[in-house]
Amino acid sequence: MFVYADNAATTAMSKTAANAMFPALEELYGNPSSLHQKGREANYALMDARKTVAGCLNAEAREIYFTGCGTEADNWAIIEGARAGAEKGKKHIISDAIEHHAVLHTLKKLEKQGFSVTFLPVHEDGLVRVEELAAAIREDTCLVTVMYVNNEIGTIQPIREIGALCREKGILFHTDAVQAAGHVPVDVAADNIDMLSLSGHKFHAPKGVGALYCRKSFRLKNFIEGGAQERGKRGGTEAIPAILAMAAALKESCEHMEENMAKVAAMRDRLIEGLSKIPYSRCNGNPEHKAPGIVSFCFEGIEGESLLLRLDLAGICASSGSACTSGSLDPSHVLLALGMPHEIAHGSLRLSLCEYNTMEEVDYILEQVPEVVRTLREMSPVWMHMLEKMPDPYQ
Ligand SMILES: *Cc1c(COP(=O)(O)O)cnc(C)c1O
Repeated sequence: MFVYADNAATTAMSKTAANAMFPALEELYGNPSSLHQKGREANYALMDARKTVAGCLNAEAREIYFTGCGTEADNWAIIEGARAGAEKGKKHIISDAIEHHAVLHTLKKLEKQGFSVTFLPVHEDGLVRVEELAAAIREDTCLVTVMYVNNEIGTIQPIREIGALCREKGILFHTDAVQAAGHVPVDVAADNIDMLSLSGHKFHAPKGVGALYCRKSFRLKNFIEGGAQERGKRGGTEAIPAILAMAAALKESCEHMEENMAKVAAMRDRLIEGLSKIPYSRCNGNPEHKAPGIVSFCFEGIEGESLLLRLDLAGICASSGSACTSGSLDPSHVLLALGMPHEIAHGSLRLSLCEYNTMEEVDYILEQVPEVVRTLREMSPVWMHMLEKMPDPYQ
């Protein structure tokens, strides 16, 4: 059996996205900035796509800026928020310890440029506490950036409460909603969000396209200099086929949100129930505030990398945490921020599902993972060491 359970890393393109993209690749080759009919045709399609994306977020079309990826949108929002703050002499930013590297590394760079950043702790369950955020606000706080859904452990942050607090204090609020858009309902008006990043390839659109929503009252400046595209704010000829595919995919996800969420959450819950039976395992994240599709576990006494390789041999595509940390031997900064010791954080497994997965696939995962964990433990010196101090759960 083959099971793709790494949807938080990237998703397969949907038929809907492909049907929007392929004809555009062939037909809509005009440059949307050109005045002739081919240009106008592309420009109309672009305007439609912008309206569609805005509609899915309860924003206005003129508040949507297409970017090359989610990372670009995160960089742009944070650097702009910081720039606007600095102009008023405010150079303090609040974020948290489990952000994506697109946010964390941008904040680290700003720290080197003289900004001060408070990284809120997230407690054992991976949630930011609104009271702690309120307590961290200073006279010179210009920006709060907290992700909507965490990509490794799936926790959903209290975005609406954070948005309300920031609005009350007059502080700009950005959220990395790359794992939220198309997966859970997102409403920038109800949630008081000033800036939001999303990425097409996390909801069945192709790679290489994202968007930044920026409230119209904020005077956004360029991150990428160039021509007058994106109302002069983001130079570079628009990637029409990818943008159209993203708009179509987002619309489809939002139209089927409820049924997709119910279907994916049922698979997630079965997965959590089954994996919890593995001795010395723990499910990471908050049991209530969690995304429908992301399941994160740690198994004591094993290496996550070996687990992944064995699962791959069994036809299961999973990951240890974020795709961005794989390749480095450091345990995930997210799991460490939950207060997890290094040796346990090393034995992590993330399975991320989407509406294309099936219960049969979940059952197959549940056949394979316990067996692989047991085999790896039998070969593990760490596990042997643990057995000196505890009864063998496999006896
Ligand atoms: C994938 C991801 C990103 C980066 O998006 P790209 O389009 O791959 O640059 C940013 N934040 C989160 C939470 C993500 O999951």
